[in-house]
Amino acid sequence: MTVPAVSAVIVAAGRGIRLGSDRPKALVPLAGRSLLQRSAERLCSTNAIDELVLVVPPGHADDPTVLAAMDAVIATGTPCLVVEGGAERQESVLRGVTRSQAGDHRLVMIHDAARPMVSREDVKRTLDRAAETGAALLAHPATDTVKQVSDDLRVERTLNRRDVWLAQTPQVFRRRQLIEALEAAASCGITLTDSASALERHGVAVTLVEASAPNPKITTAWDLERAEAGLASNSHNGPMAMRMGLGSDLHRLEPGRPFVLGGITLDHHAGPVGHSDGDALLHAIADALLGAAGIGDIGELFPDTDASIAGISSSEILRQVLRQVRSAGFVIGNVDATINLQQPRLGNKKIEMRDHIANLLGLPTPSRVCIKAKTGEGVDAIGRGEAVGAQAIVSLAALTDRRDVSATEDDLR
Ligand code: MG
Repeated sequence: MTVPAVSAVIVAAGRGIRLGSDRPKALVPLAGRSLLQRSAERLCSTNAIDELVLVVPPGHADDPTVLAAMDAVIATGTPCLVVEGGAERQESVLRGVTRSQAGDHRLVMIHDAARPMVSREDVKRTLDRAAETGAALLAHPATDTVKQVSDDLRVERTLNRRDVWLAQTPQVFRRRQLIEALEAAASCGITLTDSASALERHGVAVTLVEASAPNPKITTAWDLERAEAGLASNSHNGPMAMRMGLGSDLHRLEPGRPFVLGGITLDHHAGPVGHSDGDALLHAIADALLGAAGIGDIGELFPDTDASIAGISSSEILRQVLRQVRSAGFVIGNVDATINLQQPRLGNKKIEMRDHIANLLGLPTPSRVCIKAKTGEGVDAIGRGEAVGAQAIVSLAALTDRRDVSATEDDLR
């Protein structure tokens, strides 16, 4: 077996509490691909990495999102290994580095999954610098004035801004030195927020490489929104880059049929008649998506003359529509929909539908979807309880990076 010259370790073990997601941060999608996968693909695309170790949250080694990231790495021809992380970041780093195959004096690159936009050029520059000096990290100079404060936020002194740099990743070290430094820090019970600190404590000289491009760390939902907006820029595609789509649907209700709406089964004596499960809300959303992307309607894609799709779940229809919309180069902004239904009353079911739809569409937060409901006031087929209707409007933004357009089945959980 050949020994890799540079092993990269992507640390993805954070819980992501500040992101407000119920999933670990690195597994949250950014325009359809997880932060973990995007970071891994970014490092692989430099052609400077011989091996990649993904350190994932405990219990998530078999998560489909982790496996999708691993497949994406392997597809580039880079060997990939998944390791479960520990309670603290430095423990996770140590586990990843220990499992890497790089020789003791070779280089190991540590990168945060939460920095998926790092410039390929900066990755290579950091690596080149570490090859010269043995330890280097990407950083950027402070631009704000920096105050040192007490616990009660009283300013103690103003630091000289010229002396203050903010550490990013990647950080690159000699493998043996990094392991020794991390073990020494662990044996003293010291918690560190980056790997370079361990080397500094260990007396190793560490050099900075100034970042030449933004390399934001995605920590909050706002960071995620901003990163997604950065991937979908109006400037590249002109004024038509933001697009809207409208969809509506109506299904007759018949006694004794299951009532699926918004992907949720409702408790009712009647349910919609349809070639599929008759989910009017998902059909309206699917049509709105197709309309915004300019690629037709669900009647064309899923004709009721096609016996092979009889009884198909509308959640599956929406998944397939999403795949087409992504392939056409779009990312979803938001979905707004209204259900027209006399009975049953929906109450909290609207929240369940919203969460189901946001998850189906791979949206970073459920707040990108709004589901409202109206009765028919007893005046028409809906009002008499004979039908269910829905209207939806969606916004799409065009992706600028053609790599983001190559949506694969792996994108869709
Ligand atoms: Mg329909």
